[in-house]
Amino acid sequence: MPMISIYEGFFLNLCVLISSLFVYKQVVRSITKCHQTKCSLIISGLLGGILGVILMHFSIVTGVNSIIDLRVIPLMLTILYSGWLSTAITAVVIIISRFMIGVNSQSLSNVIFILLSWLIFYYCSKKIKNRWVSVAIMLILSNMVYTLLTILVPSTTSINYILLVNYWTVSILGGLVAVYIMDYLTKSELLFKQHKNFAFTDPLTGLNNVRSFDRAFNQAKKRQDDSVAIMILDIDRFKQVNDTYGHLEGDVVLRKLAAILKMSQGPEDIVSRNGGEEFSILIHNCTKSEAYEKAESIRKIVENSFFIINNGTKSLHITISVGMTIYSDTTKEIDHLYAHADQALYVAKKSGRNKVCFYSEDNPLS
Ligand code: GH3
Ligand code: MG
Ligand code: MG
Repeated sequence: MPMISIYEGFFLNLCVLISSLFVYKQVVRSITKCHQTKCSLIISGLLGGILGVILMHFSIVTGVNSIIDLRVIPLMLTILYSGWLSTAITAVVIIISRFMIGVNSQSLSNVIFILLSWLIFYYCSKKIKNRWVSVAIMLILSNMVYTLLTILVPSTTSINYILLVNYWTVSILGGLVAVYIMDYLTKSELLFKQHKNFAFTDPLTGLNNVRSFDRAFNQAKKRQDDSVAIMILDIDRFKQVNDTYGHLEGDVVLRKLAAILKMSQGPEDIVSRNGGEEFSILIHNCTKSEAYEKAESIRKIVENSFFIINNGTKSLHITISVGMTIYSDTTKEIDHLYAHADQALYVAKKSGRNKVCFYSEDNPLS
């Protein structure tokens, strides 16, 4: 294999490091989704160790007996982003793999180097609040340990100053780039999660929004779930509340109603605000009478609740009308479920409000 220059070696290591961090983040994200924290910490540590081994494999040859690599960086990253358990595993993997290359004074000094770096990283991460100062001190102290070990356990009789200069340059630049990339990936992941959450949540009430409702409803349709019921709940004469007390007080009423619906939510129910003063509940695995009882109980709770507005100085009473239907009892085709519930709501409004109406094929719009 032709010898590559220090610059080429460093560039190669950076490419390996950055691409590994992307893969690492993806793997850890999918593991965290389906495993407990402890398990994901262990896997995180193992991945850190594997990255250390890969970086050792891509070590930069700067002359006879002078090889440098970035094995210490995964150790620092696991301290910064995962915790002591992951770091312990990363350290053990790096130490064992170094022993597998050969047991000699170099591999023993590697044990000391990794363990001392671990202590330094741990101490700095706990004691130094400013992130970049902490990272800089971690790298400088770890490099000092490396320098001391290189002087005390030399592989040749003379001290290799070029090796030390190269190591300081490569490890500090590599460390800073790695932390920058990890911070960037962590922030983007957080933003992605937040925006995903916003996209499916109604900002006023915190309930599912119409997009979320559609997703749940389409899933139920795809599965052709039997015994799936929909109720659409609409506040009666809500415009009057807004006209009398103002839009902001109207919002207070909407939030309180959302809280009542959340409290009545069963484990499999999908409660959503579908728009304006219209809410819906998608209920799985229920009978027609169970669904009806649930709707009636919500209607009664709302009727008997006090809606406190105007900074606690005014208490309101409101009522709701509910239209509902169930597949495959009252609605034979699941695609018509929402439209039928909406028709039933229309019937409830037309026939006096403050009531629950089931869709009926015989007399849908009476
Ligand atoms: P009905 O009994 O027939 O349902 O009468 P209603 O007044 O409730 O129905 P209408 O559709 O005439 O009015 C709905 C009102 O809901 C009009 C609108 O001002 C109000 N609204 C819609 N979205 C919001 C919101 O986000 N906040 C507040 N405060 N009001 C809203
Ligand atoms: Mg209304
Ligand atoms: Mg309405």
